[in-house]
Amino acid sequence: MVFDRRVTTVVIGGGHAGLAMSHCLTGRSIDHVVLERGEVANTWKTERWDSLRLLTPNWQSRLPGFGYDGDDPDGFRKMPETIDFICRYAEAISAPVETHTTVTSVRRTDAGYQVVTDQGDWHCRTMVLASGASNIANVPALAAAVPAHIAQVTPTEYRNPDQFADGGVMVVGAAATGAQLAQEIHRSGRPVTVSVGEHVRVPRNYRGRDIQWWMDRAGLMDERYDEIDDINRARRLPSLQLTGSDDRNALDLNSLTGIGIKLIGRIAGMNDSKAQFSGSLRNMCALADLKMGRLLDTIDEWASANDVDGEVEPAERFAPTEIADDPPLGLDLAGGEIKTILWATGFRPDYSWLDVPVFDRKGRVRHDGGIVGSPGMYLMGMQFLRRRKSSLIDGAGDDARDLSTHLAAHLDG
Ligand SMILES: Cc1cc2nc3c(=O)[nH]c(=O)nc-3n(C[C@H](O)[C@H](O)[C@H](O)COP(=O)(O)OP(=O)(O)OC[C@H]3O[C@@H](n4cnc5c(N)ncnc54)[C@H](O)[C@@H]3O)c2cc1C
Repeated sequence: MVFDRRVTTVVIGGGHAGLAMSHCLTGRSIDHVVLERGEVANTWKTERWDSLRLLTPNWQSRLPGFGYDGDDPDGFRKMPETIDFICRYAEAISAPVETHTTVTSVRRTDAGYQVVTDQGDWHCRTMVLASGASNIANVPALAAAVPAHIAQVTPTEYRNPDQFADGGVMVVGAAATGAQLAQEIHRSGRPVTVSVGEHVRVPRNYRGRDIQWWMDRAGLMDERYDEIDDINRARRLPSLQLTGSDDRNALDLNSLTGIGIKLIGRIAGMNDSKAQFSGSLRNMCALADLKMGRLLDTIDEWASANDVDGEVEPAERFAPTEIADDPPLGLDLAGGEIKTILWATGFRPDYSWLDVPVFDRKGRVRHDGGIVGSPGMYLMGMQFLRRRKSSLIDGAGDDARDLSTHLAAHLDG
C-alpha cells in the first residue's frame, strides 16, 4: 500500500545524527518522522569493515540525553557495541523511525517539501538531511587506467584481508582508514605499500592522556566554523591518523614503516601500466610533523594556563617521520608486485535524490553552519558543519540543539 502523509519535519537518515535531531525536535514538540533506507545504524551495520573500532574513546560518544554507561570509559568500541549504542539510543528516545524506507526524491513545494520514498510520499514544512557524509568512497579518475588484472577495492567494500588475492597491496591514502587498513593487511602476510598524500599526524597518548581528551578539554573540538580562517579547507582535511585498540598504540607512518610497510608519494598519474608518484613525500611528512608540533604546543600552553601541568606527565615531542632515501617515483603495475589497490582516498555524501538547487559547483550542499540555502532545510553530520567535532558522534548533540532552534524559529514565522 502506498501512502501520502503530512508531518512538520522529515529527517532523512537513522544514524546518530538523525536520531540526535529527532530527540531535539521531540523536546520542542515538533512532530516529525525519521526515514531510514535500512535499519537504525545502517551504515555501521552494512558499510564498515569487520575489525573497525571507534577511534574516539567510549566517554566521547555523548548524544543528547544519552552517554556511555559502561565500566571502560577510555576503551574503544567495536562495531557490535557501536551498533548497540545507537540502537539503544533510538529506543531510549522513542525515535519515530520508519525503517526500510528509501528516499528517492525531494522537491520544493509551495508549503515546504515533497519527499518521495519507495513507501509512499511525505509532505513537510521543514526537513533535515542526516543521510551521512560517507555514502560513497572517493576513487580518483586515474583508477580507470589501472591494468585489469589488478583488483581495486574501496573501504566501503572491504571487510577483511581474506577477500584479497595473495601478493602485494597498494593502499592509497594515509588518513585513519588507509593507515588502519594498511596495518591490518600487512599483518595478514601481504606486502603493503602506502601512497601518502596530505595527512594529519597526532599521537594517541600525550602526557599520559588520550589526544581526544586534550582536544576536548582544551576546547579545540568546540571551535566553531565561523571562527576558522579557512573553513573550506578545514572541511576537507583528512581524518586524524588514529586507531582505537587495546594497546592504545600510535598509528603514525613510523609505526607502519616499523613493521615493514613501504611508503611512496601521492599517486599522481597512470601512464600505460606505470603508476607515477609525486616527489612530495618528504615534504608532506615534514609538514605533518610540523603541524603535530604546533598542536602539542597549543595543548602545552593550555595546560600551563589552566593549571593542568601538575595532573599530567611532562611535555614531550615525538621523533620526526622517517622516510627512506629516494622513494620510487614510478611503479610498473604490470610487474606483478601489486595484486590489489585499496583506494582509501576519502568519502563523500550521496545526494542524487535531492532535486532542490542547493549545490555548489563541486556538487556539495551549500550551507551556513548547517542552515541550507533553501527555506526550512537543514544539514547534519558533515565535517566541521558547525564545530570541529561535528562529524563525530560527540558533535551531533550541540549541532542538533542549534539547528533545531533555528528550525523552530523558521516554523514560528
Ligand atoms: C570509517 C569511519 C570511521 C569512523 N569512526 C568514527 C569514530 O571513531 N568516532 C566517531 O565519533 N565518528 C566516527 N566516524 C564518523 C561518523 O560518526 C560516522 O560517519 C557516522 O556514521 C555519521 O553519522 P550520521 O548519522 O551523520 O550518518 P550515518 O551513520 O551514515 O547515517 C545516515 C543514514 O542515512 C541513511 N540514508 C542515506 N541515504 C538515504 C536515503 N536516500 N533514504 C533513506 N535513508 C538514507 C543511511 O542508511 C544511514 O543509516 C567514522 C566514519 C567513518 C566513515
